[in-house]
Amino acid sequence: MSSADTHENGQVVVVGSANQDLISYTSAVPVIGQTVMGKTFETTCGGKGANQAVAAASLGMVPVSMVCRVAEDVFGQSLLNNFRNSGVIFDEESTVLKEQGSSGVAAITVDTKSGDNMIIVTPGTNFLLSAADVRRELENQSTKPAVVLVQLEIVPEAALEALKVGRELGAITILNTAPAPEDYSLDDFLPYIDILIPNETELQAITGGTPEDDEEKLARMLLEKGVKKVLVTLGARGAMIVEKTDEDEVKVTKVEAPDDLPCKNDPVEDTIGAGDAFCGALSTYLTAGLPLSDAANRACGVASMSVRKRGAQTSYPTPDILPECLQ
Ligand code: ADP
Repeated sequence: MSSADTHENGQVVVVGSANQDLISYTSAVPVIGQTVMGKTFETTCGGKGANQAVAAASLGMVPVSMVCRVAEDVFGQSLLNNFRNSGVIFDEESTVLKEQGSSGVAAITVDTKSGDNMIIVTPGTNFLLSAADVRRELENQSTKPAVVLVQLEIVPEAALEALKVGRELGAITILNTAPAPEDYSLDDFLPYIDILIPNETELQAITGGTPEDDEEKLARMLLEKGVKKVLVTLGARGAMIVEKTDEDEVKVTKVEAPDDLPCKNDPVEDTIGAGDAFCGALSTYLTAGLPLSDAANRACGVASMSVRKRGAQTSYPTPDILPECLQ
């Protein structure tokens, strides 16, 4: 599948967050009032929206645009440079907010002994992306949106508007329910969603289910409320598609990475950003014209490659290392 054959299919538009991750590795995590010395420090570009856009664009198959907000600060510049380097398209004029707050940052402390982490995410300008901004920028895309992909690290009004406008424009609308909302319901969102993508814990959170409930039963509850298809990601077990057939029956399809994926039996390095790899890759494959089960099979392959490398965006495969079964 080359980029040349698929551009006329439209593009992926991701509406979501971009954060600079500031990661301190320390052998002693501080308690309140204490100062400890860190061992090493690194900065990476993150935020679920940006991760998904980078995962989608890294495959090099279809155009990928990002609708987000950063501040006119050093982190904003870093986040935009990262988009440029990854081939993610954005409109600088509307993306950079002048003299309004700080870019989104995630201050992460990692305990090098246990591997445990503590994270403070400050959304900053991510929360200044409004519903009106989203409508204007989706309607003014120069390439037709084939997929509109949304997560929940922006204000709910903006996320909901992205799904509504995506539907109006005839795009496939995808909501990744990460992080699961704690103080609002997704009921109003559900009728505007073609594909809802929760992981197992998010599925329980948004349906009020428990770990004892099976995924299929919980996904059926969402279909009853107006979602067209539910695609539950299941970690090492791959994913499951639960959808209604034309005969109004519920069809369940289990999906895993392709059998001939070369890294399938390699050790797992970490699973950071695996869900984002899955959502971004799925959107690319759908835009390239694959049916959902094939797109999900390959998205499992991309996510499976990502867990074999360290980090989130740093682990997303590019065309030079993409095995034939994912091309
Ligand atoms: P999240 O990262 O949102 O918690 P999951 O843990 O369900 O989401 O992972 C998303 C996808 O990443 C899975 O559907 C699977 O394709 C891949 N994945 C996650 N963990 C593993 C693993 N340990 N081995 C292989 N693939 C994995």
